[in-house]
Amino acid sequence: MKTNKEYISLIEDGGIFSYSPARGTFILPPNGLLLWSLMKEYLRKNFSLLGVKEVSMPCLIPFSLFNKEKKHIQGFSPELFHVQSEPLSDNHNHREDMDLVLRPTSEVVFYEWFSRILKSYRQLPIIYNQWCKVFRIEKNIKPFLRNSEFLWQEGHTLHSNSIEAEKFAFQIIELYRKYVEEFLCISSISGLKTECEKFAGAVKTYSVECILPDNQCLQLATSHFFSDSFSKTFKVEFSSQENFLKNPFSTSWGTSTRSIGALALSHYDEKGLVFPFDVSPVQVGLIKYRSDCKIDSYVSLIEKEISKHYRVKVYEKSSSSNLNIKDCDKEGCSFKVIIGKNEAENQSLTVCTRISNEKEVINKELLISFIEERKISFSKFLKKKSLEKRLSSTFEINSYGDFIRIIKDEKKGFFIVPFCNVEICENNFKKNFSPLSFRCILEKGFAIEKTCIFCDRKSSCTAVLGRSY
Ligand SMILES: [Zn+2]
Repeated sequence: MKTNKEYISLIEDGGIFSYSPARGTFILPPNGLLLWSLMKEYLRKNFSLLGVKEVSMPCLIPFSLFNKEKKHIQGFSPELFHVQSEPLSDNHNHREDMDLVLRPTSEVVFYEWFSRILKSYRQLPIIYNQWCKVFRIEKNIKPFLRNSEFLWQEGHTLHSNSIEAEKFAFQIIELYRKYVEEFLCISSISGLKTECEKFAGAVKTYSVECILPDNQCLQLATSHFFSDSFSKTFKVEFSSQENFLKNPFSTSWGTSTRSIGALALSHYDEKGLVFPFDVSPVQVGLIKYRSDCKIDSYVSLIEKEISKHYRVKVYEKSSSSNLNIKDCDKEGCSFKVIIGKNEAENQSLTVCTRISNEKEVINKELLISFIEERKISFSKFLKKKSLEKRLSSTFEINSYGDFIRIIKDEKKGFFIVPFCNVEICENNFKKNFSPLSFRCILEKGFAIEKTCIFCDRKSSCTAVLGRSY
């Protein structure tokens, strides 16, 4: 298990995080930004298959816009950064349009815009996404997991009918689930949020959640279906094919740099960061064992050849090759290639992977096939480890007595319970068992023959409880 100090060394020494002067903000060094760019690249490619177009919205929002959606402001107002602006003239009267906030999310600017641009059913669906920074005052800071300023993407869509919008929200959560499971190799659970936990104003909120080494749960992505409520509030209207004025149905969805923290904590080992091959900022690390002209030129040759195929870095910060190997491991480089006098003379390479450490000497022509053969088992290994971790931290509970026993034993993780999904029952639960919360509902109907463990009503679903970040 990682203490906060160990976690910070892990990401700082691994070259993906650095502190910055304002509390709750962070610097992304080259490997950190590259990691985020690789995540973006994967998502962009998959979003585009669903017809997503990219736009850019302003960072400053008039505070007055938030008053339009009371439910929204309830969920967000305590977290807003207000921007102090100088009066433009001698007129010191308060001007409403000068009371600006830094966006915590862009729903309100999107909808104000939509109300001006949408006219006809022919424009639908509108499927927009933006990559940006958002700002929320955060008291408990944990790099990447909880920050006051972070990077994310937020998608906002409008559809002519409810079925299409609801389907889109589901397609997006499936896309996120694959991103987490297949690309990041993190075992997850996904499902609907309960009445109390869903996003303010949403009819349905889906989420993808994972479990971290300290057995706390982390929400990695969400997708919301709003029905036509937001459109009505912001007077977004279109004329239908039959020439009626209608409000479109909408969705929003997002994932953030939180995934970087989840990735670091899901796969690290005692030597440092470990990344799945496809998302690794450095896929091949070259390390010189001693240095002379012959070795140097051989390393340059290999670097030139291999960087045509993979992300390559020569580790040579230290005069000690052992320290360079340590740096390479800390950065989570997938394959190490060690080159000394013997290798340079025989045109060979000493190679090992980040996860096995068994060294092999191969002919230099065989490096690419060596990597291609092993990169798949590399991902499989990380997926298996993450799945085992999740399963060993998941407890199925069928009675209130068992639930109390597990709490008393101070067990943490995902608790799977039959639940009634009634708001009063959930509110009672929150009063008594905070910081535990409902993470999501796995399946409806599955627990129909069972009883809610908190209220003795007939259960209507299987829910997942956990302590969240
Ligand atoms: Zn209940």
